[in-house]
Amino acid sequence: MNAEPNSEFNQRRLVNRRGRPLSVMFVASEAAPFRKTGGLADVVGALPIALAERGIDVRVVMPLYGGVRWDELERLDGALVVPMYNGPVRSAVRLGRLPGSNVRVYFIEHHRFFDRPYLYGPPGDAYPDNLERFSFFSRAALELCKATGFIPDILHAHDWQAALVPVYANTVEWGRPLHGAASVFTIHNLAYQGVFAPGGMFITGLGWEHLNPHEFEHFGDLNLMKAALKHSTMLSTVSPTYCREIQTPAFGYGLDGVLADRSGDLWGILNGIDVREWNPETDRHLPARYSLADTSNKQECKAALQRELGLPVLPDVPLFGVVGRLTHQKGFDVLAHCMHELLSWNMQMVLLGTGDPDAEHFFGELSLYRGDKFRAVIGFNDALAHRIEAGSDFFVMPSRFEPCGLNQMYSLRYGSVPIVRRTGGLADTVENYDERSVGGTGFCFDNLSVDALKNTIGWALSTYHDRPEHYRALQTRGMQQDFSWQRAAEAYEHLYVEAYRRRRGHDFTAGE
Ligand code: ADP
Repeated sequence: MNAEPNSEFNQRRLVNRRGRPLSVMFVASEAAPFRKTGGLADVVGALPIALAERGIDVRVVMPLYGGVRWDELERLDGALVVPMYNGPVRSAVRLGRLPGSNVRVYFIEHHRFFDRPYLYGPPGDAYPDNLERFSFFSRAALELCKATGFIPDILHAHDWQAALVPVYANTVEWGRPLHGAASVFTIHNLAYQGVFAPGGMFITGLGWEHLNPHEFEHFGDLNLMKAALKHSTMLSTVSPTYCREIQTPAFGYGLDGVLADRSGDLWGILNGIDVREWNPETDRHLPARYSLADTSNKQECKAALQRELGLPVLPDVPLFGVVGRLTHQKGFDVLAHCMHELLSWNMQMVLLGTGDPDAEHFFGELSLYRGDKFRAVIGFNDALAHRIEAGSDFFVMPSRFEPCGLNQMYSLRYGSVPIVRRTGGLADTVENYDERSVGGTGFCFDNLSVDALKNTIGWALSTYHDRPEHYRALQTRGMQQDFSWQRAAEAYEHLYVEAYRRRRGHDFTAGE
């Protein structure tokens, strides 16, 4: 179902009979700004702050990776003793806060597991001991709750790296205080499920009897996400459309049946964006700032971007921006097949991304010999991503699937009209242009084919040249959209209350 919070719910501040607020522990493998590989980190870095603003007692636990400024974190006294399959393993804990807030972030400090250059493995590869690393992390997160005396009402686990949390709550914590915590498991990307050889079952510390098709076993493998989908009190994912899509074979990555079975417990809640970080009125990365009321400086951002990347400075030639991981998910292979024809049109394109070496090579080479119209920057560059959003007239996202997607929301806010495949969160955030009513906020297409993408970009181009007042209307409507985390936080609160009710058999407000 889709979570549409009602306004009456919004009015109440959530406390139980004794005036205690709802408490939630976020267990996640990344959080911005500490360490980030994708949208998960953005959610874990922002949603807890919005929940705390609603009065919820929310804390976060994540691993202490190499690269995190550990010297700025407070080292807590004592050590956690984490029961592992091969005996107790000790771990230190450090404490920080999400920037600009009082939300506590606990870091599990264990150098052998986490002091490495990458979070999950080098590009295109996984560390061979990931099952052990994240079994340890999930178990340590529960030990942390006990050691700090923070027995939350809700354990909110994110993605496969924290998938063992709801399972441990139902097994090793059986009959203990943490067993009373309702578990919520959020899928940020179903394509990554934490799949291991079945022989690794013992590493989780759970008995072999759990390697069965109703828990961990999935087509002969050990699948952590499947176990979480079976064990969690409630499930969620990051947009209403993706929530429906993943219950079908085309998007379900083999787990569609499991998800469809729990359809009544699975909610789709659209992510918000960090509206302070992504605000064209205050963005420190931009050469000039602008707002909905006065977009004139956007032209200056465009000219500066053209200069920065060595493109001809042509104000009337529409500039198309592209930012993202160069992976199969993002549909860049389809874009690659369009490039020859696109570059014969009166347009410019800039692309920023890293990922698949073939894609990096293709776009990098094309940039060398079509520098008159196309520039690719291969790398991860946050400041440039901001300047591309501000400096481009259109933003292209031909995703194969997109759980939520952030860039299209940034684009709308920056007046860079998005061109998207109608899937997942893209379908929930971009409304297709209607030529007759001049409605919509962007351009959508359904089939992920070279023709569909090319034709939609052509449609956008002709709108820009032939119906500039329509282009302007799309831009304005996009800039008016509200993607703040407050809306999402309200829906999550609703989800937590429902999870609590199902776990405990009574409403949170009626509890002690
Ligand atoms: P995903 O999580 O699937 O990568 P999202 O659109 O949800 O996709 O989030 C991607 C985030 O990473 C956005 O904030 C985007 O701007 C950023 N990003 C992706 N690639 C790059 C890059 N090469 N340089 C800078 N930022 C990037």
